[in-house]
Amino acid sequence: MADGFVSKVGHDGLAAAVDWLGSSYAADDKSPVQYLRFTDLEQPILNDHLLTVVKSLITGRQLDGISVDEDTKGILLGSTTNSVAYLGVPIDRSTLRSTVESVLMDRITDTADFDCKTEWRSFDPDVLTELALGFQQKHEIIAQGYAETLARGSGTDHEFERIPDDFKLVLPELAHLIFNLKDFDMAFEGLSQLPQLQEQVRESDAYNNQTWKIGFLAEILRRVTGSVDDGYGPETLDQELETVRKRVQPALAELLEPEADASAEVVERFFAGRQAPAEALPASDEMCFLCGRPATTDYQKGNDGFYGTSKFSRRVPPEGEYKRVCPVCNLEHALLRDSCERRGVRVGDDTEIAYVYYDELRSGSSSTTSSLKASRL
Ligand SMILES: [Zn+2]
Repeated sequence: MADGFVSKVGHDGLAAAVDWLGSSYAADDKSPVQYLRFTDLEQPILNDHLLTVVKSLITGRQLDGISVDEDTKGILLGSTTNSVAYLGVPIDRSTLRSTVESVLMDRITDTADFDCKTEWRSFDPDVLTELALGFQQKHEIIAQGYAETLARGSGTDHEFERIPDDFKLVLPELAHLIFNLKDFDMAFEGLSQLPQLQEQVRESDAYNNQTWKIGFLAEILRRVTGSVDDGYGPETLDQELETVRKRVQPALAELLEPEADASAEVVERFFAGRQAPAEALPASDEMCFLCGRPATTDYQKGNDGFYGTSKFSRRVPPEGEYKRVCPVCNLEHALLRDSCERRGVRVGDDTEIAYVYYDELRSGSSSTTSSLKASRL
């Protein structure tokens, strides 16, 4: 029967093979052949993650954070981009859906590395902002990023073998204050040592206009750890750092708050089982320029973005510079970028991508479709 099933899949596809196999069980009316249908999403990386999670739940293969009910374990028969067939008991679709939703982001963050840009001359949380992760998780990623930047001695002459955990804890807020907010009056009000040290670092010959910011972080750390003793008290510094952390945290939390929950939306689309009909097609300026779904987020990536607006300035009029993108396409884009960078491919310089402007397709513009240069991937 196994051979018959495999050849049936090869000839007629998975759905027909499932029908054929199911019919052989019809006599006792308890066919163990189960066939789940999903939506074939426009975002292939996310589609893969979703299928993997579903299959893991069925087969009981361990995924971090997923516990499998022994009773629902089945044997996988096969899968396509929009279906999964298995032998076993039926799984309640809404239970499956909520389980998938609860573990999807864990799986994605386990397999992809969403480094934000914790550089010695700037701090840009970038795609981290767009992910539906908790503040705590994002905070840890930023703290780790700056701990590594400091440890390497980037932009300073000081390398650090170890960054104390207490100091790591305040790094995201400090970085946001120093590189982005620059509202030192608010953060340092009533404090003595931090503003004094800031002044000292800015005036020091060891740093210039560019390096004093990362230098300030390094010099605080050198005094907190006691490797420099020039009158600053580590305990007072620790207390002042804690005050700054509390004052800056609301602004950092606001910065990291995603505008929409991408994982909930992608799971909804996947479980719809078919592409939702375009009942009310959004106006072109309210449409995701990649998939045509409603979108509210303005999209304008920097030079390293796949869809950097500067790249197609000849095609897009100035007023069209900001496009709308939906959270699902934004997440897919982040995963694609991670996948490239993981393989040592520089996004922007080495990567080209073909795309269709759904929003322009809708508005009937002359440049309805376009493709960038050939990929060198
Ligand atoms: Zn989209």
